[in-house]
Amino acid sequence: MPNQRALRPLTPPERKQVDALLARLPYLRPKLRIRVGRGLAEKRRKLLVGVDEEDSRMHAAAFLVRRHIVIDQKLFRRRDLARILYHEIFHFVWARLGNPLRLSYEHLLGREWRERARGELGWSAEQRKLSLAAADVRRRTRLWADYVCESFCDSAAWFCLESRRPHPEWTLKPRFCVRRRRWFQAADVLPRLQL
Ligand SMILES: [Zn+2]
Repeated sequence: MPNQRALRPLTPPERKQVDALLARLPYLRPKLRIRVGRGLAEKRRKLLVGVDEEDSRMHAAAFLVRRHIVIDQKLFRRRDLARILYHEIFHFVWARLGNPLRLSYEHLLGREWRERARGELGWSAEQRKLSLAAADVRRRTRLWADYVCESFCDSAAWFCLESRRPHPEWTLKPRFCVRRRRWFQAADVLPRLQL
């Protein structure tokens, strides 16, 4: 966790926004604490809070053990709040998904990779996908594992929001989106939101 003093609880209007978004996720019983910071960045897998605007490249982060989510306060003025909040919540779901479903999702991405599917369903996944080499996929390196996890979280947020306005970060071609949608329907991931 970053320095707790750099973080604050949600203000009442922010709480209202977050509660409205959580209410749209079926089954969710959030036992998560949400904290707000300003200027988030990552260094050696640690979250930094209070960095300058131009160094801040993150919107939010999830801390699985302590069941915390940290959100950048800027997001409350942006349309992206739902997508980013859901992404972070699905990190908790991925952690509890179990190996068979995780492997099944990994196989889906492996198949896309072989079919040279470009694009993703969020920048978080896409930036990792762009830095992958064939050897990462073959050897299932840390980079590949990170990509699979971020892709799951981005795709799950997309799955919850796809009926709404299209987002410029949803760049995956429709035929691959169809498969991902089917995977999420078959995996019945949403009930796992009872965290
Ligand atoms: Zn993530």
